[in-house]
Amino acid sequence: MTLSADQQAEIDALRAETHQTLRATVPGMEAHLYKAYPVLDHGFVRVVDYMGDDSAICQAARVSYGRGTKSVQNDEGLIRYLMRHWHSTPFEMCELKLHVKLPVFVARQWIRHRTANVNEYSARYSILDREFYIPGPEHLAAQSVVNNQGRGEALTGEEAARVLEYLKADSARAYDHYEEMISDEGQQGLARELARMNLPANIYTQWYWKVDLHNLLHFLRLRADSHAQYEIRVYAEEICKLVADWVPFAYKAFEDYRLGAVTLSSQMVDCLRRMLKGEEVTEENCGMSKREWREFMATIE
Ligand SMILES: Cc1cc2nc3c(=O)[nH]c(=O)nc-3n(C[C@H](O)[C@H](O)[C@H](O)COP(=O)(O)OP(=O)(O)OC[C@H]3O[C@@H](n4cnc5c(N)ncnc54)[C@H](O)[C@@H]3O)c2cc1C
Repeated sequence: MTLSADQQAEIDALRAETHQTLRATVPGMEAHLYKAYPVLDHGFVRVVDYMGDDSAICQAARVSYGRGTKSVQNDEGLIRYLMRHWHSTPFEMCELKLHVKLPVFVARQWIRHRTANVNEYSARYSILDREFYIPGPEHLAAQSVVNNQGRGEALTGEEAARVLEYLKADSARAYDHYEEMISDEGQQGLARELARMNLPANIYTQWYWKVDLHNLLHFLRLRADSHAQYEIRVYAEEICKLVADWVPFAYKAFEDYRLGAVTLSSQMVDCLRRMLKGEEVTEENCGMSKREWREFMATIE
């Protein structure tokens, strides 16, 4: 991660300034505010602002005049009940605004989450930095043979070295041409909005991303999952740590009832009941497809 001295000074200045407020604040989140946490080789996540806390969820659920708090145990119990029963709107009362720096191919996956507000760095107006995501050798993996949408073992030997060299050389060459095309020294200089089309998808972009807690947890459920691509998963994992410090009760309920939970189809529940009664249930008599049976066995074994 590269923050310039000026950028770091702006962050330090913000962290040195304090305001008195009547609004709820969370010490765990105040500690993170404005700091940039590194992700991948040049990326980061940093909290720009947040609204609400665990008790704001209870306040909304109870449509309360006060803080909504009955007792700490009551609050935790209520939040866990709301999460278990998909009573989601109280979670929408909390908001998080992040500044994220991420490779363009990760941004393409991220932007599919439509229930957020986004403002991206303008490559029409500004010149993009010479910063490209180059995977570490352990992440330079071969195509998975069991999952078309995944990766397998890390590449080795000459192939690994060659691929790494292609990624570095192609990025550098594309950026050299970008710089040359936009230059107005001795030429008119191509518009930035056109020159950028030459740049590869591993170049970094940045955006402000604001989302409510309900939709953030939905994003984290999908993107902190082991099936998500590594390069977006590491961002989701970093955000999970922030959310755990911001709304600890809600995050714990999310871990228990979403992240670590599984969904069983009615056929799966039926198989489980038959197994508990001592019946021998097999792929042939389970009433499910081969794939579903495999997924079921992977869940319960
Ligand atoms: C492992 C994985 C693999 C994926 N593979 C592919 C792929 O191959 N190709 C591909 O195109 N995408 C792929 N996706 C993206 C995926 O299909 C979703 O677009 C993405 O995860 C965003 O989810 P979402 O729509 O639930 O989120 P959000 O856009 O944040 O929406 C949240 C919820 O709001 C509701 N909602 C929002 N907008 C609408 C709307 N217009 N109409 C109705 N309901 C709405 C829905 O209930 C939705 O679940 C993949 C995602 C994952 C996690």
